[in-house]
Amino acid sequence: MPEFGQTAYLDRPNTTVVHLYILSRSAQLYSTDSLLKAARRAGHHVQVVDHTRCNLFLDRSPVVYYEAEKLRLPDAILPRIGASVTEIGVRVIQQFEAANVFSAVRSDALGRARDKLRSLQILLRGGVPVPRSFFLHELHHLDYAIDRLGGAPVIVKLLESTHGTGVILAESKTTAASVTEAFVRNRQPVLLQEYIHESRGADVRAFVVGGKVVAAMLRQAAAGEFRSNLHRGATGTPAQLSTMEEQIAIRAAKMLRLGIAGVDLLRSDRGPLVIEVNASPGLEGIETYTGVDVAGHVLRYVEARFKHHRTQLLSNQ
Ligand code: ADP
Ligand code: MG
Repeated sequence: MPEFGQTAYLDRPNTTVVHLYILSRSAQLYSTDSLLKAARRAGHHVQVVDHTRCNLFLDRSPVVYYEAEKLRLPDAILPRIGASVTEIGVRVIQQFEAANVFSAVRSDALGRARDKLRSLQILLRGGVPVPRSFFLHELHHLDYAIDRLGGAPVIVKLLESTHGTGVILAESKTTAASVTEAFVRNRQPVLLQEYIHESRGADVRAFVVGGKVVAAMLRQAAAGEFRSNLHRGATGTPAQLSTMEEQIAIRAAKMLRLGIAGVDLLRSDRGPLVIEVNASPGLEGIETYTGVDVAGHVLRYVEARFKHHRTQLLSNQ
């Protein structure tokens, strides 16, 4: 039996069965389980590979070990990389990419999406509206920055926040100044951002797959909380997006080169503003609150993109 990978799938150019690795810490996680089931339903060969246990070997070609076991190269990988292990996740994806394996999330796109400043810069380049934000790595212009944002309250945000853990609402200028000072003096640059109070603790999560919004929900923060992360007790309801919101979400994913993305929008008085684009968006909330088979959409996207990738490789031979 031939090994998976270049020789194997180039030997079977018409097969519709994909040998797929889902890169994930655990098959027990809701999103991973949902994707696994969708892949099995579609008849693919699928396996969960914990990227944090992978070892990368550079021989005559790039090799990936799962602990001590040499992995066969799959046709495609579907990375589900948590924010706390971005670096190793990116490196493992790079190794598979170096072996010409199709990755549903490109390594460079994942790395970029995890940096809030970099993401906002790229979004602005593509004309995607974002909240006014100041990047602060020293304290000289703190007062000026707060004034330019219209004064307190303002949001102080760490560049690599997740689940709302690095997002602070500073009610007064003094709080904003002391919080920013604490971070910056500990070598943690921050984003100072205008507070969109009119969104009243709600944001919209648009789930984009292959250039389309396949599901959308409104997330409302718990009482006494301004952050609408589900991990912080927010609740979701299906959302009807305006045409503009839909176009902005699609554009945001495209600018960040993410075929699969969770785009978060705040509904502000001056229209929708993108606050972040998630490269590994959770499926539990969106599937539960909207009833959409999001995993099914993701799998169909992987199949279609893999076929395209294989055609390109074959034509380059
Ligand atoms: P994280 O990546 O940690 O989720 P976000 O930037 O998405 O960080 O912020 C978390 C939550 O805080 C958002 O979902 C939103 O409810 C709230 N939030 C973030 N930025 C703003 C802002 N500029 N104005 C109002 N609310 C905000
Ligand atoms: Mg968020």
